[in-house]
Amino acid sequence: MLTRREVFRSAAAGAAALAIPGFTFAQEAKGFTLPKLPYAYDALEPSIDAETMTIHHDKHHQAYVDNLNKALTADAPDLLGKDIVELVQGYKKLPEKVQTAVRNNGGGHLNHTWFWQMMAKPGTAPKLDLLKAIEASFGTLDGFKKDFSAAAVSQFGSGWAWLVVGKDKPLAIVKTANQDNPITDGQAVLLGCDVWEHAYYLKYKNLRAKYLEAWYNVANWDFVADLFAKATKK
Ligand code: MN
Repeated sequence: MLTRREVFRSAAAGAAALAIPGFTFAQEAKGFTLPKLPYAYDALEPSIDAETMTIHHDKHHQAYVDNLNKALTADAPDLLGKDIVELVQGYKKLPEKVQTAVRNNGGGHLNHTWFWQMMAKPGTAPKLDLLKAIEASFGTLDGFKKDFSAAAVSQFGSGWAWLVVGKDKPLAIVKTANQDNPITDGQAVLLGCDVWEHAYYLKYKNLRAKYLEAWYNVANWDFVADLFAKATKK
């Protein structure tokens, strides 16, 4: 008797052999995939613990990817191969049936893909033009942290705090609910911190401000500097 896994394997092999262009298997092949973490699960210890990183990446981020693929496969398979940044940026112009899935699960996929890169071990410090922009906008790096933490802590429920290119000052801080991303409002994102409880609860419990304090130690300001240079290039 075949096990469930063997039955699945032989069914998949049979369907793959019969696959015709545009059939489900071809669509799945160009669906979104979970990117690997750019470091080990325990690399950000003690600021972010390995268990949180493992669940956050392998379960939460994977679920956003899976649910996005599922929704698009069902209702807009031509969008499966598109750029996730463009999809999230312009989700309001997509077919109504997939707008919520792209906003929530597409947003989740994009936000986390960036989030992993916005952290590093060891964390880095802002330099040169970026440091000048921080000082012009917030007085000092500590001034930035104070304002950013205030935004992050005051985000009611789940969401994100973001550093974006500013309008009247070089930089600005905004916050969004759920998996919304400021690029949908036309803002250039430089840094984002996930303040969903799944990002910190195992280690920091209800103390979101403590998580923020530790998170600055692993902020990847080199990555932010690249984004800032690209966003402000004349
Ligand atoms: Mn998250």
